[in-house]
Amino acid sequence: MSTIAENISTLAERIRSAAQAVQRDPASVGLLAVSKTKPASDLRDAYDAGLRDFGENYLQEALGKQAELSDLPLIWHFIGPIQSNKTRAIAEHFAWVHSVDRLKIAQRLSEQRPPELPPLNICIQVNVSGEASKSGCSPEDLPALAQAISTLPNLKLRGLMAIPEPTDDRDEQNASFAAVSTLQAQLGLPLDTLSMGMSHDLEAAIAQGATWVRIGTALFGARNYGQP
Ligand SMILES: *Cc1c(COP(=O)(O)O)cnc(C)c1O
Repeated sequence: MSTIAENISTLAERIRSAAQAVQRDPASVGLLAVSKTKPASDLRDAYDAGLRDFGENYLQEALGKQAELSDLPLIWHFIGPIQSNKTRAIAEHFAWVHSVDRLKIAQRLSEQRPPELPPLNICIQVNVSGEASKSGCSPEDLPALAQAISTLPNLKLRGLMAIPEPTDDRDEQNASFAAVSTLQAQLGLPLDTLSMGMSHDLEAAIAQGATWVRIGTALFGARNYGQP
């Protein structure tokens, strides 16, 4: 068994026990493999061990890996900050975008989504950590943004994404993720996705309703930014 396959079975067990602790079906929690800085061969190992959904943060890096892995039926998620000049390629090459935090980006993604593809699945990134985080829409701006995005033709608004300030305190983790879940419920829209929880806090995220946990380090090992 490869290290990656072993890591996936450890993660499946963490997800299963976190879900069972709150009477949730473990199958309602998706494992999104966050593969930034990792070589295509690692993604292939994860595919062989059963994963299909991969999250990338950097467009050029993602496009390179998509080309190398074009023989596999992978589902690509864009999870990094989005500049306006990147929206066309993102609209063309991804099935999901988790990191939409302003209307202009959503409008461009909708306009640029190729008509032969299904609607692009969208999560709005919301900032529940205040000044500690630069990215994400504020909770105050969220209702208007969600309303506007829900009317765009080539997008399907699925839910919210959050990256709370990292902490080892389980109560603080719970409070942040509960805030995301409450914001989602208050929108009153038919949403089915909460993208929250990473390697160190997936248990708290699942307890508060996560449907995608985005896992990098616990799956592929530590990232080395010097030698991607
Ligand atoms: C890198 C990254 C992750 C994965 O973080 P780990 O702590 O390595 O599991 C998840 N979400 C986003 C948006 C990321 O950029």
